[in-house]
Amino acid sequence: MIELIDVTKVYRMGNVDVAALQGVTLSVAEGEMVAIVGPSGSGKSTIMNIVGCLDVPTSGRYVLEGDDVGQLGDDRLAEIRNQKIGFVFQTYNLLPRLTALANVEMPLLYGNGHDGRRRALEALERVGLAHRAHHRPTELSGGEQQRVGIARALVKEPSILLADEPTGNLDSKSSVEIIAILQRLNDEGITVVIVTHEPDIVSHTKRAISVLDGRVVSDVPVDGTRRAAAPSAPAPSGGAR
Ligand code: ADP
Repeated sequence: MIELIDVTKVYRMGNVDVAALQGVTLSVAEGEMVAIVGPSGSGKSTIMNIVGCLDVPTSGRYVLEGDDVGQLGDDRLAEIRNQKIGFVFQTYNLLPRLTALANVEMPLLYGNGHDGRRRALEALERVGLAHRAHHRPTELSGGEQQRVGIARALVKEPSILLADEPTGNLDSKSSVEIIAILQRLNDEGITVVIVTHEPDIVSHTKRAISVLDGRVVSDVPVDGTRRAAAPSAPAPSGGAR
């Protein structure tokens, strides 16, 4: 589904070239849940920007669901991005004056659908937050704001979710709730790629790709992927085994 082949990315800073990626080859199959890890400056965001069709490689190829997107112009790139990819951000990126529902509906405003409200509400239901639909971000906890961010990423029904440090601003309880939601969406068939620093988050994914100095230095399955309990799941009863 996602295939990077010997991808490089060079940024020009004044008259200095910065090699952010130095030949990255990796593929992610449909239905995987992958963590990309590495120290600051190692190239994680650059990989995410390319995978998310926000930027194109300097050399090498990027093939997304069979389309060679490395060579496309900005318009086609935006089209593919809008159809296939949902983004989740560390700082949620919600509009403060809008309700949760209106934030989730935003990506649909420029489409031709007339059922945006209903679809936005359904997306909020998928993250267990329909009862907060009319609250503004300041009236929600960090974890709830991130759930709104995930609902907004889902509203156009992407096949891939890209999450950049999605739990970076959250306490551990909220982090577990967010990872549980991402796991459940992955169970439903969405491919999930997460950039994270946190070993605890990596342990909930199925595969860890480590990046250093613009190169992939290891790519291993996660042994015994941990399951996180979804926030809406009922508490285990006394009769649980
Ligand atoms: P990470 O996400 O792992 O912190 P990045 O992908 O942001 O790493 O950065 C990789 C390298 O590329 C760093 O040396 C960074 O300074 C450089 N870089 C990233 N984006 C740009 C840019 N827009 N212009 C110039 N250099 C950049």
